[in-house]
Amino acid sequence: MNKVRASAPQLEGLVPYDPKYLPAEAYLSANENPRDVDAEVRAAIARRIAQVPLNRYPDPLANRLRDLIAEANGLDRANVLLGNGGDELLFDVALAWGGPGRSFLNLPPTFSVYAANARLTNTRCVDVPRRADFSIDEAAVLERVGKGDIDFVIVTSPNNPTGQRASTAFIEELLDATDALVLVDEAYFEFSRATVRPLLATHENLAILRTFSKAFSLAGARLGYVLANAPVIEELCKVRQPYSVDAISQAIGEVVFENRARFEPGIREIIEERGRVMEALRTLPGVTAYPSDSNWILFSMEDAGAAWQYLYDRGVLVRDFSSAPMLEGCLRATIGTPEQNDAFIRGLRDFLAESRAQRARAMQ
Ligand code: PMP
Repeated sequence: MNKVRASAPQLEGLVPYDPKYLPAEAYLSANENPRDVDAEVRAAIARRIAQVPLNRYPDPLANRLRDLIAEANGLDRANVLLGNGGDELLFDVALAWGGPGRSFLNLPPTFSVYAANARLTNTRCVDVPRRADFSIDEAAVLERVGKGDIDFVIVTSPNNPTGQRASTAFIEELLDATDALVLVDEAYFEFSRATVRPLLATHENLAILRTFSKAFSLAGARLGYVLANAPVIEELCKVRQPYSVDAISQAIGEVVFENRARFEPGIREIIEERGRVMEALRTLPGVTAYPSDSNWILFSMEDAGAAWQYLYDRGVLVRDFSSAPMLEGCLRATIGTPEQNDAFIRGLRDFLAESRAQRARAMQ
């Protein structure tokens, strides 16, 4: 047959996820850690990988890594599930708690993967939009779950791409108000220094998502994990791909987790640099920078698309959200090394100065 019938109807018009990666000197577009794992950890990883039997399937549940994570969090193995990046676990949550006839509560603007997963799994996506300052409309969320038809909610803390964390008191109220699964996406919690993990002891409907991709410099290895009570983990195990976390990634994850204290100075530097970049942005006329508890800053300005291009032409790649719904005029800059951050600030300052000069010439 020289033709193929149409794919599933929910795929019609769907655009595959595009991280908008382009060659650049300073990658400030994907919220990655600007520093790779250090040479000593890298050498330890190489030694550990050399012992991995490649002819054997990996441990399906990555139990060694599971135990390390469980112990560090005061939990048991049964409370931890590894995935091929947080992305895979987000899909597993949509498979396990979504589906035809089921509903997902989303708080846009937020990580676009959540709504895409809902669509792929034929789950109804109910939006409670954030306020103009991107804070959660807490009363509206509580009222909406009160109707009883929501099967799962995702609260991103800190929220990507807007930057601020959710209040713990609100998450506790939400957990008390519903039996829906509440997934708190803490992919960036190391930069906010805040977690809702203690609430696991009292709330069976809480799940927490974490990742090795950001604070632990491992976006290339694809490792994420969920912390939850055992019944939630058991449901996720029913839908997961048995061998999604390969043996090499497990080995890398074990070494990095054992050495996690070595990443602390890098995390501290990012938090300090965030303060410095924020101060610099706040001195730029016409730029509104939103508060951030994470490793990036979202800001809005006139001619954001042109500013993106100007920065890119100077080797600085930031993320352009200027035509995304609810994010009009917004760009997001990941916090990089001090040198990369300087290049970003200098570029933006030059763009604004040139725009002002152009406008002045046009008025003459
Ligand atoms: N959650 C949020 C909010 C994210 O921004 C990301 C990464 N873009 C993820 C989850 C998934 O990260 P990863 O798949 O690299 O673990």
